[in-house]
Amino acid sequence: MGKIHNFSAGPSILPKEVFLEASQAIVDFNGSGLSLLEMSHRSKPFVAVMDEAQSLVREIYGLGDDYEVMFLQGGASLGFLISAYNMMRGNKRGAYVNTGSWAGKAVKEGAWVGEGVEVASSKDSNFNYIPKGYEVPSDFDYFHYTSNNTIFGTQYHQIPDVNVPLVCDMSSDIFCRPIDASKFDLIYAGAQKNMGPAGTTLYIAKKEVLGKSSMSIPTMLNLNTHAEKDSMFNTPPVFAVYVSMLVLRWIKKTGLEAIGNTNQSKANALYSEIERNSMFSGTAAAEDRSLMNACFVLNDGLDDALNAEFLNMATEAGISGIKGHRSVGGFRASMYNALPLESVQALVDVMKAFETKFA
Ligand SMILES: *Cc1c(COP(=O)(O)O)cnc(C)c1O
Repeated sequence: MGKIHNFSAGPSILPKEVFLEASQAIVDFNGSGLSLLEMSHRSKPFVAVMDEAQSLVREIYGLGDDYEVMFLQGGASLGFLISAYNMMRGNKRGAYVNTGSWAGKAVKEGAWVGEGVEVASSKDSNFNYIPKGYEVPSDFDYFHYTSNNTIFGTQYHQIPDVNVPLVCDMSSDIFCRPIDASKFDLIYAGAQKNMGPAGTTLYIAKKEVLGKSSMSIPTMLNLNTHAEKDSMFNTPPVFAVYVSMLVLRWIKKTGLEAIGNTNQSKANALYSEIERNSMFSGTAAAEDRSLMNACFVLNDGLDDALNAEFLNMATEAGISGIKGHRSVGGFRASMYNALPLESVQALVDVMKAFETKFA
């Protein structure tokens, strides 16, 4: 098998060194004679893994002890409900921006708990832009947004400026560049896009917002339960947390600034080719394009044979995972942190060859 350029939208590419180290831990964890998979989550070696993963998150985002970091389960899909339960206050109303499928699901879960109100939406244009210029009245208990829209290829390039507590689903762009994380009251992110394998969900919560909900919250959905027990109220997903910890070490070593610059270079290379190439068009508004997921279609998008031909040429060049999501069609190239610039260049080369052949 030749080199595979992995553009999968998730679960997605992770650094190669992480796979090697993680495979070793399955056989013999740190010379203990035991696999990581067969030791107690309360054992010293695993408690050290959990501690390190939590401190790395604080360190990378420059957060202090006023933030609680938790590694839980249920995916961001449970995060929609958990965030609503934990952030509802006396008004029992959450403000949401609907920027696509995941954001829409968040609104729906908010409505299980209280009122989930859409204060803005880009549905009118198949979610190809980020809404701007709306107001968030102060009688909302929180404001929830999706920083990167994995399916539609749009991303917030600025943190929204609102006067109510800020909640964000960062599943597909967490740690993609430096941000001022101290602006957030609650961040959650499924690990499997940009931080680790499937199986754990990161929660970063300002300590002062925990335990303030107006709802009576079932035990496992209450973030306070997990904060008080250091993510060990029940058995944590030990392997997913361990692999995430290895990725976090890699992020710290590489540096968030450098990661952000590389992500910008990758996005520039691909978007400038999409613009230059006479065969393709991007689907997202230029100012809101995602650094992580680039969506593009053939100008002759209805020609199924031509679509198949491009996928064939890409596959032959070792490119994997670029078939677009069914709600947008065409192609989606996901360029998460661990994807090298060289893989984007390989895709650009195929786009050029395709133009030469068919234009
Ligand atoms: C993938 C994704 C989700 C859903 O994550 P699960 O872990 O499958 O529940 C939610 N939000 C965003 C932005 C995503 O990319």
